[in-house]
Amino acid sequence: MQPQPVIVWFRNDLRLEGNLALSAALSSQKPVIPVFIWNDKSSDCTFNGPHSERWLRVSLRHLSDSLSHMGSRLIIRKGYAHKELRGLASETHADHVYFNERYEPSEIQTQSLVEEALRPQNIVLKAFNSNYLFDPRTIYKANNHPYKKFGAFWKHCLTLQEPNPLPLPLRSEQFSSPMLWPNTVQPTEMNEGSSFREVSCIKPMWTPGEASSNRKLKEFLLTSYEYYSENRERSDITGTSMLSPHLSFGEIGPAQILQELDQQRLKATASATLHEDKFITELGWREFANYIITHFPASNSEPSNTVLDHFIWDDNKNHLTAWQSGETGYPIIDAAMRQLKSTGWMNNRLRMVVASFLIKNLLIPWQKGAEWFSYLLVDANEASNNLGWKWIAGCGTDSSPYFRIFNPLTQSQKTDPDGSFIHQWIPELSQLSEPWIHHPWLAPPDILQRAQISLGVDYPRPIVDYKTSRIRSLAAYKQAKLLYDLGRKHN
Ligand SMILES: Cc1cc2nc3c(=O)[nH]c(=O)nc-3n(C[C@H](O)[C@H](O)[C@H](O)COP(=O)(O)OP(=O)(O)OC[C@H]3O[C@@H](n4cnc5c(N)ncnc54)[C@H](O)[C@@H]3O)c2cc1C
Repeated sequence: MQPQPVIVWFRNDLRLEGNLALSAALSSQKPVIPVFIWNDKSSDCTFNGPHSERWLRVSLRHLSDSLSHMGSRLIIRKGYAHKELRGLASETHADHVYFNERYEPSEIQTQSLVEEALRPQNIVLKAFNSNYLFDPRTIYKANNHPYKKFGAFWKHCLTLQEPNPLPLPLRSEQFSSPMLWPNTVQPTEMNEGSSFREVSCIKPMWTPGEASSNRKLKEFLLTSYEYYSENRERSDITGTSMLSPHLSFGEIGPAQILQELDQQRLKATASATLHEDKFITELGWREFANYIITHFPASNSEPSNTVLDHFIWDDNKNHLTAWQSGETGYPIIDAAMRQLKSTGWMNNRLRMVVASFLIKNLLIPWQKGAEWFSYLLVDANEASNNLGWKWIAGCGTDSSPYFRIFNPLTQSQKTDPDGSFIHQWIPELSQLSEPWIHHPWLAPPDILQRAQISLGVDYPRPIVDYKTSRIRSLAAYKQAKLLYDLGRKHN
């Protein structure tokens, strides 16, 4: 008689290699049923927007093909995870469900519902930590409190032994099929969501899937890694790995990145260590974002710094729309926001610059920016998105001080010195060159005329003055701080 099968519940771990839950299921030597549950009403922000939704569809097709290649199948069901897994388990007589953990509050809730639904059927759930280097629930300060600052957190992580060991590469003989495969929705059959039609499709710059993420990592290590520190903040060249969507969907895991990096280092006999490697430190920020959402889930949408509770926002709808559509009159902000809408992407420096502009120059609450990002980013991920926005707003557990306000003019000059990134995204400014490309409203009339730009007609004038809006923002913060201090005195 065939042993009872085990279900492997794929979530944001859409890969075969380096997937602890899948490897453990295969080691059980039982038939394995790989399953993905597509929940249209998911509260999970990873799959919320048009770009990430499109990515997911393509990635599932790749996963399905890879599993077919191994003689297996991907079963896709639509609905709620707990209901679908319960149904599948009774249909197939599976007695185990293996999965990799997620740590976002909505996902923890999903996991609890799954546990509750499967308990009465005596189905054993086995959870693994495959998408992060460290299990966030095992890391504490000496006083048993969780870390709040990145520096101390990462220093501690670097003293720990090897993170998760990587499982060995998979072989098709390891996959054993159940007697009967349950029904599945084909990845190609899934309707394109209505949101997808609104925004232009993923540009050719992206190829979702496990194979593509491995290629991208290799290419980055060969070409850009060496210059990462110098180029990571540039917008006119690709100075970073662009692996974040692949990591967000789990097409590659951080342990695989470290392993590949180690191999490259051995080849190059490079001397950088984990401690001084800027690229690895950025992976550390990803760990930290996951750590913070695990330990401070309630603070996810609220400010952790209560001074901001007293902040008087301007919250002007027209300004929000101008920011979202790249019509603020500040070319670097507009180029970045148009790039986001069109491709689902923006580099880290520009994410900081546009976030600072929204919060501090337009006085719009950070949550509105975070929502827009989570809708459009192809790597949208609740933990990193909230960490980033709260860092800029000055209300995270570890954040930039409120008075640090990015100057869009100097940032533009640094990140896009000759304006080629701006030219790419704002064709109406294509005839304007440096230095005016960074601040067209300062250009003499004859320069504007020659560039065929009539400000306010072809391209907007700035919606706020950078200098006065900065002063207004600092004054608003000062007032909020006064109210906060007064409140503390009374309590
Ligand atoms: C306001 C704001 C919102 C953000 N929202 C997201 C988001 O929704 N999803 C997301 O993955 N990242 C987010 N980030 C972090 C960061 O901007 C992106 O991870 C990074 O730009 C991805 O580019 P890359 O893959 O080329 O990164 P690289 O520079 O090549 O870094 C390698 C990996 O490290 C991780 N990483 C790098 N920087 C950060 C960071 N600051 N915080 C957390 N992880 C980091 C990413 O997984 C990235 O792929 C946000 C940052 C800000 C300031």
